[in-house]
Amino acid sequence: MSRVICIANQKGGVGKTTTALNIACGLAVAGQKTLLADLDPQCNATTGLGHEPDERHALIDTKPLRESFRDTYLENLSLLPGARSFEDVDALANSSDTRSRMLAAHLAGSLGSFDTVLIDCPPSLGPLTRTALSSASEVLMPIQCEYFAMEGLTQMIGIIRQTMDRPESRLEFGGILLTMYDTALELTAEVDREVREFFGEIVFHTVIPRDVAVSEAPSHGRSVMDYAPRSRGARAYVELCQEVLERV
Ligand code: ADP
Ligand code: MG
Repeated sequence: MSRVICIANQKGGVGKTTTALNIACGLAVAGQKTLLADLDPQCNATTGLGHEPDERHALIDTKPLRESFRDTYLENLSLLPGARSFEDVDALANSSDTRSRMLAAHLAGSLGSFDTVLIDCPPSLGPLTRTALSSASEVLMPIQCEYFAMEGLTQMIGIIRQTMDRPESRLEFGGILLTMYDTALELTAEVDREVREFFGEIVFHTVIPRDVAVSEAPSHGRSVMDYAPRSRGARAYVELCQEVLERV
């Protein structure tokens, strides 16, 4: 069975897409057959790999999901592109819990040919994130080192626990990742202490520094490791991929 890692946090701008994309590229380079699935109507994971979004999201289309998989610039990496259409989101938002479970089964059922799947979630706890959680084996939560970093997390954890409690779920906590880390800031050290005290072992040892190379890479359709291999951001994501591989 594929390892399906859902990258979720209902806050925007915490580094979900950046992390999903860079882990996906890192694992692909490490030899894993990998899929990056874009479930965010903003489609940043899709455009960050230099691709155009689909007209209609494959997830709510009737054709088999694998017909929508695209090749990318990396040999082992496929992309399930996102779609901007609001109709899609509404359709999901209005859908019943049963329909959401059907979608999750649809998604999970098409992922078997990959070693690892990374799902990039929208910044909400809506139906798309719930669908992603339902089809995942792990959830990885990026947390930005800023004021109120932990705010809203209880709600997120509640939804995760609800999903875990379902008999058909194989979801586990995959880890917490500290992003936009700035060693010069006392605030960063505070958030680091607080998050590790609260979550303990599941917090990744690797932290992702704030680094302009990380934010520039998507406009070149590449991972930061390929765009600026010597940057601090690239080194951090390489280290993170190693930790992700060790944590099976
Ligand atoms: P989310 O998907 O959670 O909304 P993104 O991954 O899109 O967050 O990141 C938000 C913004 O911050 C983007 O412009 C991205 O390029 C930038 N960013 C993400 N991680 C870093 C980092 N480590 N250093 C500098 N900028 C970053
Ligand atoms: Mg995003």
